[in-house]
Amino acid sequence: MKWLRALPSQCLACHAWPSQDVLCPDCWQRFATHAPFRCTGCALALPGVGPERPRCGACLRHPPAWHEAHAWMDYHYPWNNLISRWKFGQQPALARYAAHWMLQDARIQAAIDAADVLIPIPLSKERMRERGYNQAALLAQAFKSHKHQLHCLARTHHAMAQSGSTRAQRLRNLRNAFTIDTAQRHHIQGKKVLLIDDVMTTGATLTAASHCLLQAGARQIHVLCMARTP
Ligand SMILES: [Zn+2]
Ligand SMILES: [Zn+2]
Repeated sequence: MKWLRALPSQCLACHAWPSQDVLCPDCWQRFATHAPFRCTGCALALPGVGPERPRCGACLRHPPAWHEAHAWMDYHYPWNNLISRWKFGQQPALARYAAHWMLQDARIQAAIDAADVLIPIPLSKERMRERGYNQAALLAQAFKSHKHQLHCLARTHHAMAQSGSTRAQRLRNLRNAFTIDTAQRHHIQGKKVLLIDDVMTTGATLTAASHCLLQAGARQIHVLCMARTP
């Protein structure tokens, strides 16, 4: 496959060379460990055996804007390195790996199958100019479900840098940060939307986007991210 050859042939974690994959088999064994249960509200890993749709106490008290959230992995080493490379290192091809790995998770495959439309969290125009690609859009496309709509949702302004902000600050910054293209509205009205992002940290961005989509007539929102900050 052409995209495989385009990637570095060194294990991202232990630097073993050559490696057939982004991670060598030993590192894959060590780091690709899934949380058996995640809260369907905030996607945080939950201990023990849960009910069919487990919810943590915080999400039971304050239900999120979406119906269900899914995450493939916790945002820890080496996935955090990989995602930084993907985001900032000009390695858009890593989206194909991410999608390939995520689709092995039956819950994620089911969420994609059940959605009417896949919508990536958009970047601002400024970010898009800097980076040249939107990693969430590449991920949505890499699922190859042909349900993605990349231009429904847009950023209204260049939101303030988010790192270090509290959730409340982020929510304030993000109020009205998204808008729906009127001409694209029919893609979401009455539809079950799966919002796609690379990382969920506080969930504030996804919350703001969910509110915008619900206001524009989406029937139900689900959320899917590659990694969840534990
Ligand atoms: Zn390795
Ligand atoms: Zn939760």
